[in-house]
Amino acid sequence: MFLKRLDIVGFKSFAERISVDFVKGVTAVVGPNGSGKSNIIDAVRWVLGEQSAKSLRGGKMEDVIFAGSDTRKSLNFAEVSLTLDNEDHQLPLDYNEVSVTRRVYRSGDSEFYINKQSCRLKDIVDLFMDSGLGREAFSIISQGKVEEILNSKPEERRTIFEEAAGVLKYKTRKKKAETK
Ligand code: ATP
Ligand code: MG
Repeated sequence: MFLKRLDIVGFKSFAERISVDFVKGVTAVVGPNGSGKSNIIDAVRWVLGEQSAKSLRGGKMEDVIFAGSDTRKSLNFAEVSLTLDNEDHQLPLDYNEVSVTRRVYRSGDSEFYINKQSCRLKDIVDLFMDSGLGREAFSIISQGKVEEILNSKPEERRTIFEEAAGVLKYKTRKKKAETK
């Protein structure tokens, strides 16, 4: 499984529709301060189901929608699609290519899609859980994360190992079953 493409429109600083193609191997994103490098990673985390506005460096979820600039007026929705190569079927779906989409409107309404089929946020979160790419996964190490891991309590650190070992899914299910 690898990241193939990221399509963004109206998310944070990206007013225009942009499409980033990734190739197998290493891709580096470079640019001056404030040019939107971290916003690209925020878009990946957001489409994978991030629900914390704070960890997306905003105050409320609406802050992910393009707020306008000197030359452009604000937009009413933000949309991100992430396309993955799934030829190795690491994601448990029968498709060689999987794309997930998330859209949010200023009204607060949200829409989620897996391969253009409308779904729930939970379906996206479940799809990526234990794939190593989930919203809590170790595959995205943001600024300050290394210190956070080193300073975290053993129980918190354990979650990282559980995700890596692929047991988080079962633990989450067990917890859900117990609260029912
Ligand atoms: P650095 O090198 O300093 O880490 P960066 O390239 O990672 O910079 P980002 O943090 O991705 O930069 O981008 C910050 C820019 O995104 C700021 O100029 C900020 O105004 C803009 N931005 C964030 N949210 C929105 C929004 N909702 N609407 C418009 N612009 C936004
Ligand atoms: Mg940055």
